[in-house]
Amino acid sequence: MANEKLLEIKDLHVVYHTDEDDVYAVNDLTLSLDKGQTLGLVGETGAGKTTTCLSILRLLPDKIGEVTGGSIRFNGKDILDISEDEMRDIRGQEIAMIFQDPMSSLNPVYTVGYQIAEALKYHSTEYKTEQDIEKRVEEMLALVGITPERKNDYPHQFSGGMKQRVVIAMALACDPKLLLADEPTTALDVTIQAQVLKLINELKDKLKTAVVLVTHDLGIVAETCDSVAVMYAGTVIEGGPIETIFGGENHHPYTVGLFGSIPNLKVKTKRLSPIEGLMPDPADLPKGCAFSPRCPKCMDICRTTEPPKVFEGEHMIKCHLFNMNKEVEA
Ligand code: SF4
Repeated sequence: MANEKLLEIKDLHVVYHTDEDDVYAVNDLTLSLDKGQTLGLVGETGAGKTTTCLSILRLLPDKIGEVTGGSIRFNGKDILDISEDEMRDIRGQEIAMIFQDPMSSLNPVYTVGYQIAEALKYHSTEYKTEQDIEKRVEEMLALVGITPERKNDYPHQFSGGMKQRVVIAMALACDPKLLLADEPTTALDVTIQAQVLKLINELKDKLKTAVVLVTHDLGIVAETCDSVAVMYAGTVIEGGPIETIFGGENHHPYTVGLFGSIPNLKVKTKRLSPIEGLMPDPADLPKGCAFSPRCPKCMDICRTTEPPKVFEGEHMIKCHLFNMNKEVEA
């Protein structure tokens, strides 16, 4: 199964057209994911992680969000080129998404069983009869650790963690090939976070679903992902297999800053070294490297010229520091 590409995004550009400005939310983004694998999409708020997921589902806000360049290939098909009808078949059935806040994904006036059944009726080609759907609803609730009898309960009768389990059951009911999990644990207590992540991991193994896990938490990535893409100002500035990102020696200065911002209980005397400054305004990105105003290693060239993508095997760093005697992609 390894090396069988499920998702390939190449040179993606997304712009939001607002009354005041054009906001460059995703800029020249390239990433890929193999079948059955988990990719951690990491970065600060505003890095373009959610916009990337919405672009994959073609759910950018109508008339405001626009893909202005690049391609998104899913299972060999360029999903930016297919009709809306074809895309509707892919959504839910082949690609599903879990959002941050479970309450925004559940309708308070319908039972959870009804809502999982609706997802099946709308998206599934496999579960068509009332009996099949009923059975699948119960099966999915059991799979996420909820007793099937609770299918007749309403969302307000569940805790935050249980609601997120229902949302996961809903997302996975149609056996999607790809699950986009957009900060699925951010709205939950820490103890519940661990349970939900464990559940996503177990289900991924059981159902062979590939996962894009959006998070700003490197600890979560270390425990759950096979590869990592670190995003900054709408683009991937470093990416590669988990061992390379967590174990390798060469890193993009922003990735170094991210690691420096995590508490390390083994090193008692070390103070945390947060990254100074803020993410640039996506409506007014700096020339050259977008990280240059915050980068402790910034050179003259960084303020004028966009850095190339430098590859060493599967490890990619987009930074002038590494652009020496290496494989480079403009
Ligand atoms: Fe820092 Fe320059 Fe590398 Fe950007 S290109 S991260 S400014 S060293």
